[in-house]
Amino acid sequence: VYAASFVNMEDGTGIVHTAPAFGEDDYQLGLEKDLPFFQPVDLSGRFTEAFPMCEGMFVKQADDRIIDDLKERGVLYRLAPYEHDYPFCWRCDTPLLYYALDSWFVKTTAVKDQMIANNASINWYPSHVGTGRLGDFLANLKDWALSRDRYWGTPLNLWVCDECGETIAIGSREELVEHAIDKELAKRVELHRPYIDKVDLKCSKCGKAMHRVTNVIDAWFDSGSMHTAQWHYPFDNIEEFEESFPADFICEAMDQTRGWFYTLLATSTIIHGQAPYRNCVVTGLGLDEDGVKMSKSKGNVIDPWDMIDVYGADALRWYLYSSSAPWKSKRLGGDVVKDALYKFLDTLRNTYDFFALYASIDDFDPRRDVLVEGDLTALDRWIFSRLTKVTKEATDALDGYDVVSATAALDAFLDDLSNWYVRSSRRRFWRGGMGRDKVAAYATLYRVLMELSKLLAPFVPFVSEGIYQRLRTEDDVESVHLCRYPEFDADAMDTDLEGQMALARKIVSLGHQARNQAQVRVRQPLSRVIVSAGEDAHLDAEVVTLIDTELNVEKVELTADLSSYFGEVPTPNFRTLGPRLGPQANAAAEWIKAQSAESIREALAGGAAAVEISGRTIEIKADDVTFEAQLPKQFVLVEEGETRLLLDTRIDDRLREMGWVREIAHRIQVMRKDAGFDVTDRIVLSYEVGESGAGVMKRNRDEIASEVLATAVEDKIKGEQEIVQEFDVDGAILKVGLRRFDTKEG
Ligand SMILES: [Zn+2]
Ligand SMILES: [Zn+2]
Repeated sequence: VYAASFVNMEDGTGIVHTAPAFGEDDYQLGLEKDLPFFQPVDLSGRFTEAFPMCEGMFVKQADDRIIDDLKERGVLYRLAPYEHDYPFCWRCDTPLLYYALDSWFVKTTAVKDQMIANNASINWYPSHVGTGRLGDFLANLKDWALSRDRYWGTPLNLWVCDECGETIAIGSREELVEHAIDKELAKRVELHRPYIDKVDLKCSKCGKAMHRVTNVIDAWFDSGSMHTAQWHYPFDNIEEFEESFPADFICEAMDQTRGWFYTLLATSTIIHGQAPYRNCVVTGLGLDEDGVKMSKSKGNVIDPWDMIDVYGADALRWYLYSSSAPWKSKRLGGDVVKDALYKFLDTLRNTYDFFALYASIDDFDPRRDVLVEGDLTALDRWIFSRLTKVTKEATDALDGYDVVSATAALDAFLDDLSNWYVRSSRRRFWRGGMGRDKVAAYATLYRVLMELSKLLAPFVPFVSEGIYQRLRTEDDVESVHLCRYPEFDADAMDTDLEGQMALARKIVSLGHQARNQAQVRVRQPLSRVIVSAGEDAHLDAEVVTLIDTELNVEKVELTADLSSYFGEVPTPNFRTLGPRLGPQANAAAEWIKAQSAESIREALAGGAAAVEISGRTIEIKADDVTFEAQLPKQFVLVEEGETRLLLDTRIDDRLREMGWVREIAHRIQVMRKDAGFDVTDRIVLSYEVGESGAGVMKRNRDEIASEVLATAVEDKIKGEQEIVQEFDVDGAILKVGLRRFDTKEG
């Protein structure tokens, strides 16, 4: 009995039988303890004459014969079936035998230090694959078992002399011909089995024939040689090889660490003395939707084509890039990919569609309607500043192989473009004609979409090409994938303006929250919001206008401090009242609460006041009262970080009428859509309204008409209408009829 670390106490007795010819642990122990190496089994798994009792029997079928023999000899202690792990073929489940064979090795241990040094020259993403997994593997490096006892594969290029054992490695066809006995055969022979095996060489030592060994080469050697073999270097393509070696970047999954990542490094270190790639991005594994590793036996394998067919290849790509670092495991499944589609790609598409719809209405031509610097609004200059900033962010991130930050930056930019630039510019596009401001808006959005398609091309190649093709003119390169990647333009940056817009978006977001809290509908104009946002906060008039419009308020007041908007309420101080007044403290407290801050301050100006409470005279002193800040009811306060916003919710008659008008205009817009009118169709608006709404309609008919593109307004619904609806707005019943305006009518 020998001690060995590979035996454990969990299974069986803690004593195992060992056979050095049938297992790596057994073999190593055999070497260490100088045990006899006994091999009674041939390559077909049958016992040989070395074990006469079972000669010719397949090893698994010999069990009964061996058991009988043990019984006969009276040495069988007990017989019982025993379940244990066993190697089996991963394809067909056939049980396998461990079998010690002679093999050819590459002596990688001779270049171990060089390989460790070359590994350190590679940028690993994540770095721990290089320092950890591969580093550990190299630190404990073993020689590479190169030969395989199979038929198909790259033939091992070794010839051995029958007579004297001389061995030669052939490195080219030229060498093969040089050493071959039949030189004509060697010149044209197919270099694979069985053909190559017909080529015998002449031994340089003894002149006898040399035969090729029967082995083929480990397939990892083939893939691990691609840095050189792909060019058939050094026989051909010297220049191509030199230009492309070492590779900038390779990418494979984590499980290739000891596979391709290692074999590339090993062959290149031996042949070229350096690492064959500069950067290596290691990807994680795909999990199913519940985060479980996919496997055929569990039946939870997700076919990427199923997702691609439903959501598109770009949605899957965007999800994989944006969800987490490439080396993290990824959940796959419809829902997560659907999210990428809805949140990003649909927003992109909607933004493009908005542009395309109006560009076709106005017949926008990027070669004629060019960008005029002086006509740009703050909004235009801002989106260009954001564009060049995201160009830098995406480029820097990609240079660092950080796709997550790159996609996050692009996602934030698209949000700014869609939910702020386009949203705040809509009215510029709705206006009639092609004024300078409208051209500026078109030219800006056009250029931004063009550049965005280029920025997105490496991430979502189909969608970006789709957008680019629809935007490009004949003067542009024919594919987005042939364009230069956009470059950062420091001159387009306007950090101050970006700060203002970021604040504006925050104010709008807080303002909407405040409106929600106050339950005031969006179309009801309000007088003002008051904002404090730190000492340096400032907003140019143009930016303020954007906030006014978006929040539907008449004014944005920026102030350093909101406290002056708060009122004060007197609050009783029970710590002084209680001990001094005892049972009368409560009555005193009630009295204090009933006073206004102003009157109680006046009363206590002298330090104390004697007041009549329920027929008694009670003395109230200055320290019996504290004052608490209280927000007057008209305000709603919302805050985020140092940004605090007060929404003034008072609605006077003037504001109410404005709200009414906007509500009516909105409902008529919806009717236009329901009736299927084109956005440019002019209409005739007819209405009937009860007494309570008559005045408002009369006073505002021109404004409503211009909002809804009505060429004529009639205060009686007569004749045929294309759509008629009746609605109740704040108690006034309004009946509206619409029909498209026929030029003959005019
Ligand atoms: Zn099999
Ligand atoms: Zn020889």
